[in-house]
Amino acid sequence: MIIFGTKGYLYQLAVLTMVCGWCGNPAAHTLRKRVTKFTLFFVPLFPFSTKYATQCTFCGGERQIPKEEADLLLAQAAAGQDGNAYGQAPQPGVTPPGQNPYQR
Ligand SMILES: [Zn+2]
Repeated sequence: MIIFGTKGYLYQLAVLTMVCGWCGNPAAHTLRKRVTKFTLFFVPLFPFSTKYATQCTFCGGERQIPKEEADLLLAQAAAGQDGNAYGQAPQPGVTPPGQNPYQR
C-alpha cells in the first residue's frame, strides 16, 4: 500500500512598502511564497507547485504574482533594507537611534 499526498508550506519572504492595487494606500505588503510538496508515506519529496503572492497589511487584499515579479520585489527589499522602498534618503533632523530626545 502506497500512501501519498501533498503538504503546503508558507514562507514569508519580505515586507515591502508599496501602493496597494486594491485600496490604493501606500501600505506594507508581505511577500509570501507558497510551496506545495508531493509527499510519499508522509515524507515530502519534491515541490510541484510554487506560488508567490503579496498581501496588503492595510486591507488584506492578496494578489498573486509571477516568480519574476517576486524576484524583483525581493531584490528591491534587499536593496532598501532601511525599510525605505521609495529610494529616498533618510530625512534630516531625525533623531539617530540610541539617543533619547527626552533624556536630559
Ligand atoms: Zn490594500
